[in-house]
Amino acid sequence: MNEVAQICSDLIRFDTTNPGSGERPAAEHVAELLTDAGIEPVVFESAERRTSVVARIPGDSPEALLIHGHLDVVPAEPADWRVHPFSGEVADGCVWGRGAVDMKGTVSMTLALVRDWARRGVRPKRDLVLAFLADEEATGEYGARYAATRHRELFEGCTEAISESGGYSVQAPSGARIYPVAVGERGTAWMRLTATGVAGHGSKPPKDSAVAELCHALSRIAAHRWPVRLTPGVAALLNELGDVLGEPIDLDRLEEEAERLGSVGALFSAQIRNSANPTMLEAGYKVNVIPGTATAHVDGRFLPGYREEFLETIDRLLGPKVTREFVSFEDAPSAPLDAPFFDRLCDALVAEDPAARPVPYVMSGGTDAKSFADIGIRGYGFAPLMLSPELDYYGMFHGVDERVPVEGLEFGVRVLDRLLAA
Ligand SMILES: [Zn+2]
Repeated sequence: MNEVAQICSDLIRFDTTNPGSGERPAAEHVAELLTDAGIEPVVFESAERRTSVVARIPGDSPEALLIHGHLDVVPAEPADWRVHPFSGEVADGCVWGRGAVDMKGTVSMTLALVRDWARRGVRPKRDLVLAFLADEEATGEYGARYAATRHRELFEGCTEAISESGGYSVQAPSGARIYPVAVGERGTAWMRLTATGVAGHGSKPPKDSAVAELCHALSRIAAHRWPVRLTPGVAALLNELGDVLGEPIDLDRLEEEAERLGSVGALFSAQIRNSANPTMLEAGYKVNVIPGTATAHVDGRFLPGYREEFLETIDRLLGPKVTREFVSFEDAPSAPLDAPFFDRLCDALVAEDPAARPVPYVMSGGTDAKSFADIGIRGYGFAPLMLSPELDYYGMFHGVDERVPVEGLEFGVRVLDRLLAA
């Protein structure tokens, strides 16, 4: 019996909510599981209790592969759940709890695999660097970003990486099982906007209203229709989806096509253009006082290769009276899809699920892959998981009643074994 479900359940019981009291107990548990298997982990903290674990397993080739996963989870409100989100309950063939999907399930697959190898004396094809990180659910500043910059030597020789958000099954209307394998991510441009005007009495004609200027800028941003830009990853996805579905996707009506295709459409609906959504607003302190400044936050995302176009457009929409600064800025990484390693990812899926139709795709948001891309590691979203069609994978990401099928986890371990074992 594979221990992956047990490891997953145990990991979920460590409440690693971010923001919260840190990842330390979970990281220590992971370090113990590795030590148990004769692997020597390096454990470090970026701040009190913000703990990460990195380990290297020597393989037949020193060109290393990085497998990274995060130990933190987003908050969960127990009253909304059918089971307690930190119970790690195993019921109805699933492991339940916050992080089951994002991403303690995947972390468990890696741990189960290397522990199984230790028992069977299996070596990996190439050096494997395993990283179990803090803080992905915020900006990674206390996790991946810290590890990649302050402990760069641990990633020596790593040319590629695999991590979350890819390699899971999505049921197509035709019945085919599609496995999107991520080859890139949109970049992140979280911005704080500031409008400055003249403060005054609320009953008088305003001289220069910061609130009004900011609202005008925000409404221009919200109303802007970003042009469709097909990056190579998305173009390849649309092409292959046409193949899998038996009829081409109409490129002139991508929004309607995304709507029509449901969960398959969700693979490209947010990935065909840049976006900028106003999310926070702040101004004023009293109804009869015109404030001198007003601020807002905007969640901006841009496709690989479209950073400049994004920034130029934003500046035009802001106009001369509103300034911007970045709260967080991370470039859009992309990894080649015409690469032997990408083919190997697809082959490993098909070997375990002959009905699998692997396709490339680009993530709409971001992961720790950005931090590792910055030190030259090409990241692929590959956390192999076979899901039953009735499970809504996207809905469970940060959602309630997050759960992962035990069989799906075991499938993932077998796929990783095919990909990585010598
Ligand atoms: Zn995640």
